[in-house]
Parts: sequence; structure tokens; C-alpha cells
Amino acid sequence: MSDIIQIDKEFVANTYARYSIQIVSGKGSTVVDANGKKYIDMGSGIGVTAFGISDDEWKNAVISQLDKVQHMSNLYYTEPCALLAKLLCEKTGMKKVFFANSGAEANECAIKVARQYGIKNKGQDYTTIITLRNSFHGRTITTLSATGQDVFHAKFQPLTTGFVHAIANDIESVKTLVKEDKVCGILIECVQGEGGVIALDKEFVCGLEKICKENDIIFMIDEVQTGNGRTGELYAYMNYGVKPDVISTAKGLGGGLPIGACLMNEKTQSVLGFGDHGSTYGGNPVCAAGAINVIERIDKKLLNEVKEKSEYIFTKLSTAKGIESVSGMGLMIGVKTTKPAKEVVSKCIEKGVICLTAKDKVRLLPALNIPMKDLEFAIDTILSVCAE
Ligand SMILES: *Cc1c(COP(=O)(O)O)cnc(C)c1O
Repeated sequence: MSDIIQIDKEFVANTYARYSIQIVSGKGSTVVDANGKKYIDMGSGIGVTAFGISDDEWKNAVISQLDKVQHMSNLYYTEPCALLAKLLCEKTGMKKVFFANSGAEANECAIKVARQYGIKNKGQDYTTIITLRNSFHGRTITTLSATGQDVFHAKFQPLTTGFVHAIANDIESVKTLVKEDKVCGILIECVQGEGGVIALDKEFVCGLEKICKENDIIFMIDEVQTGNGRTGELYAYMNYGVKPDVISTAKGLGGGLPIGACLMNEKTQSVLGFGDHGSTYGGNPVCAAGAINVIERIDKKLLNEVKEKSEYIFTKLSTAKGIESVSGMGLMIGVKTTKPAKEVVSKCIEKGVICLTAKDKVRLLPALNIPMKDLEFAIDTILSVCAE
């Protein structure tokens, strides 16, 4: 075991079950460990490094902002924050953006918007938010409460009240909760990521939009993992033909720097006023400069490449030996293998390919611009490990 791994084990909190490799550098979709061994990265830091490791264009955008000013408080204006908000609104049709530093915080903002909307427009006790069973919305106590998985809840009672969980793709279960509770918002992931990379049915998502319209409920989509080109559209809801009232996003947005965003439409843009929310680092100029570079580069051509690479992965894996099913959308893919997912991932690491897991599946979230030859090597490695 290397010194660094030993020091980490001794001094870093025990919350992560790390694989025994220490990454020291990388370029694009290749990372290098402390022994000089190279890996193809099919996880991109859990869908964060949208254009790979140490991408030149992204790095130049970040460094040129670092040369100007690395941080100012939100008491003053800075250019990257304003321009990123404008860009996100232009690309989505949303009207205003609140910047946070992570996915959980972006969701915290969304939850505040829905509650404040309910209280102002429907009545003091309209504070309940519906989420789905098997969802994942973050690790803060409130986003944990939103998350529809009991395993995350057990140790942290009492949780934030006001969350109820419907069944994915069961519109009746949603209608029942809307009747029983005083609901201000519905929050979903279009493709459940941590829950096993499962895309919701189009009919269900359209049904939710309709219920929200009919009952004056805020329709919120958690695009933390699915957003920023990941599913072959800029945001996953664009695959479904719906229009959310609130979008939260993070992960790939910053390309590797911490940033989260909560986007609000005409209905929700004025819900929060002065003093209702804030974040010291929110809209940090360096993170925002990186995010502008990421969002500007997610164009039609790149999205088509994401779709083509997705098709390539689905075609190669769907009928292969040792693979039971392939799920997901774009470059957000879950693979149910005959062998336990953890075993497949460990063997892939031995052979120089880094993959993730989600529940009982192997999860693939490569960089959006992964070179075809790197992708071929990774898929061939996964195929050979599964067929062993
Ligand atoms: C990762 C994730 C979060 C939490 O994001 P953090 O940046 O870790 O706080 C929230 N929602 C979804 C759908 C995610 O995948």
C-alpha cells in the first residue's frame, strides 16, 4: 500500500469504500495511477468531467479567469456568473438561475422554491413534495428525506418532514398522494441514476406534467446526473417533450469544478426574494467560467456523437455473454451482469478500465467526448470480463 493510501485511510473520514488505486494525472479519457498504470475512465468522476481530464479548452477558460479574480462575494457582480445564467436561460427557455455548489444544494433551492410557492399561492400548509421510490436527490438531511430509498434514511432520523414517495411509472400512485396530501411540488429524475440507471416512461413523465398543471403544483426535474449533455440532449427532460417549472443541475455542469444551479421559469422566477436564499461560493467566477465552456460546447454535433456512442454501447453489450440487460439513455448506462457488479468493476480495474456501479448494476458515465478507440477498448474489456 502506498504512503498516500495509508495516510488517507488514517485521516480521511471513513465514508467512502475506495478502490485501492491512487490517481495522479490524466488526459482526456485516460487516467494514470501512482504506479504509472493507465486506465480508460468510464466514470468521469461520476459524470463530472464532461470533456475528460485536463481538457485544454476547459482548462484555458478556467485559468484565464483565475488570472483575473478567483472569488468575490455575492454582494458584487462578476462576469462569468451573469453570462452563465444568461446562457443557461437561452438554452432552456428558463428565466432565472440560482447558483449553488453541488447537486444537493441545487435541490435544496428547488425545494425552497416549491415550498415558498405553495405557501404563498395555495395556503400555509401546502408544503408537501412528492418524489419517487428508488430516487436519489442528495445527502443533506433534507435531500436525504426527498430521496425515496429507505437504506439512506434509517440512520438519520428524524428527517425533514413533508416528503412522500410515489411509485415510478405508476401515475395512479401520484394521483392518490395529490388527493391525500397538500402538495406544492413534484420532484423527479427522468433517468434514476443511483437507483440503477432506469429511464422513466414518457407517458408517466407527461402525466406528471399534466397533474402539476391541473393542480398548480411545481414540476421539478433533478438534472444533477442526467443534465449537461449526458442523455444525448442538453437536459434529459428534452427527451420527454415536457416543460418543468424548476430544473436543478450540477455534476457535469462545471466540468470538474464544484457548481450547482437551480433554474426557474416564468412561474417560479419571482418566488424567492432578497434574503430568501444565498451561498457564499454560489456563482464563483472560476467555476462559472468552466461551466460556460462546458455549456457552450454541448452543441448538436456533440449531442449526435453522444447518441452514436450510446447506440454503439447498447448494440455491443445488449446480447453479450454474461450480460442480462442494458438500460439508460445516452452516455448514462446501466449494465446488469450475471456476475456481481462489484466483481466486474474490480476485474475491469485490473485490466485498465474504470467503471462505476449503481445498485446491482455496472454503471457507465464516460466523458461526452470520449475518443472512439478508448470507448472500444473499454467495451471490449467489459465484454471479456463478463464472458469469463
Ligand atoms: C449526485 C446526485 C445528487 C447529489 O449531488 P452532490 O453534488 O453530490 O450533492 C443529487 N441528485 C442526483 C440525481 C444525483 O445523481
